[in-house]
Amino acid sequence: VLQASGIAKSFDGNEILRGLSLDVERGELISIIGPSGCGKSTFLRCLNFLEHPDAGTVRIEDVTLACTGKSWTRANEAQAHRLRAHVGMVFQAFNLFPHRTVIDNVMMAPMRVKGVSRDEAQATACTLLEKVGLAGVKDRYPDSLSGGQKQRAAIARALAMKPSVMLYDEPTSALDPELSEEVLSVMRDLDDDGMTQLVVTHDMRFARAASDRVLYVEAGEIVESGDPDLMFANPKEGRTRRFLRTLL
Ligand code: ATP
Ligand code: MG
Repeated sequence: VLQASGIAKSFDGNEILRGLSLDVERGELISIIGPSGCGKSTFLRCLNFLEHPDAGTVRIEDVTLACTGKSWTRANEAQAHRLRAHVGMVFQAFNLFPHRTVIDNVMMAPMRVKGVSRDEAQATACTLLEKVGLAGVKDRYPDSLSGGQKQRAAIARALAMKPSVMLYDEPTSALDPELSEEVLSVMRDLDDDGMTQLVVTHDMRFARAASDRVLYVEAGEIVESGDPDLMFANPKEGRTRRFLRTLL
């Protein structure tokens, strides 16, 4: 579904991503872990060109976009737009529109961006809100929801665009454990439905229990990647072992 190769990015002369490559199969749930500042968020943002990599190629479904460090053209931007149409993104802070009800938040993008009819957008939104357990609060405003409900609304809103890949940047780090669990359980359900998901997380229990694969990133490199149980029980690389030990 998604292939990234040689993704490199520097900020002010500091090399933050050193040529990361990743091949994601349809239906995989991948957790990306690593110390603060190692480039996890930057990597996710490069995958849908919210951040322009200095080098590298991203392919999602039938859309390929390569960065060569040359100037960013309008053709590049058009291609990035096409690529983003396949990607749903959920951030740590919920980013809902405060002056819109929950269901309006979910209906907006399909109507405005895809020209979906109001009836169809509404039907899809109802199904998705049901799925994330928010059918009962669909007409409320985001401010009146708990953090876990807001985050589930944000997931429903991203899903409304029918993405082939969902990217999450620490979706639960602003939440209490019980509220995190509501959100993580939605992500597990999506995994059961065959959704492809990439999750940057500090929640090692989720990474271990729910992922098909874990990537350990340090200093802008993928140090190790593999089966979560094997990696957590017996990391191959010294750097991974040191990181996991600091979490105990
Ligand atoms: P955390 O776990 O704390 O979220 P992270 O792994 O997501 O960390 P990034 O946010 O990707 O790390 O940041 C990696 C490095 O790049 C950091 O040193 C950060 O200061 C730097 N950085 C990120 N974005 C920018 C920017 N727009 N301009 C300059 N430096 C940046
Ligand atoms: Mg981050």
